[in-house]
Amino acid sequence: MYLKSLALRGFKSFADSTRLDFEPGITVIVGPNGSGKSNIVDALTWSMGTRSAKDLRGGSMSDVIFAGAGSRKAMGRASVEITIDNSDDSLPIEFTEVTVGRAMFATGENAYTINDVECRQLDVAELLSDTGLGRETHTIVGQGRIDAVLNARPEERRAFIEEAAGILKHRRRKERALRKLGQMEGHLERLVDLLSEMR
Ligand code: ATP
Repeated sequence: MYLKSLALRGFKSFADSTRLDFEPGITVIVGPNGSGKSNIVDALTWSMGTRSAKDLRGGSMSDVIFAGAGSRKAMGRASVEITIDNSDDSLPIEFTEVTVGRAMFATGENAYTINDVECRQLDVAELLSDTGLGRETHTIVGQGRIDAVLNARPEERRAFIEEAAGILKHRRRKERALRKLGQMEGHLERLVDLLSEMR
């Protein structure tokens, strides 16, 4: 599995449609200060579903939309697509190439796609979670992140290890199941009350 390409439009400083193709192996992006190198990494983080503006070095999530520069007007939509080579079946989906897309509108709404089919953020998270990709994972190591790991509290460090071991996905599923169970218990209690009133 490897990242084949990244396509952006209206994302941070990338107002125009921009496509970057990657080959297997190491890619180095060089450029002057402020030319958008970190914005490319932000685009990767964002496309995988992050909901934290902090992860994207912004104050709010809508800061990812091109805000205008020089004579160029601000845009109303940001979109990023990443294409992953899946010929080794690392992703649990029957396609040798998988494109995950995310778009965000000025209203704050988000839209996600997997191979051009609309889906939920949860579907993207589940697709990527066993591979070490996805939001809240440690595939992308930002500036200062190593220090954060070294200075983390024991329980935070445990979360890093659980993520790396693929446990986090099951923990999230368990939390969702417990939430649903709690709701069902509430319904059941209400049903018992109603039945006792009818007697
Ligand atoms: P450095 O080498 O200093 O770390 P860099 O190449 O990583 O720089 P970035 O941080 O990726 O640069 O890009 C910063 C540029 O992106 C700034 O010029 C900033 O104005 C621009 N930028 C960020 N968000 C937006 C936005 N929403 N709309 C327009 N431009 C933006």
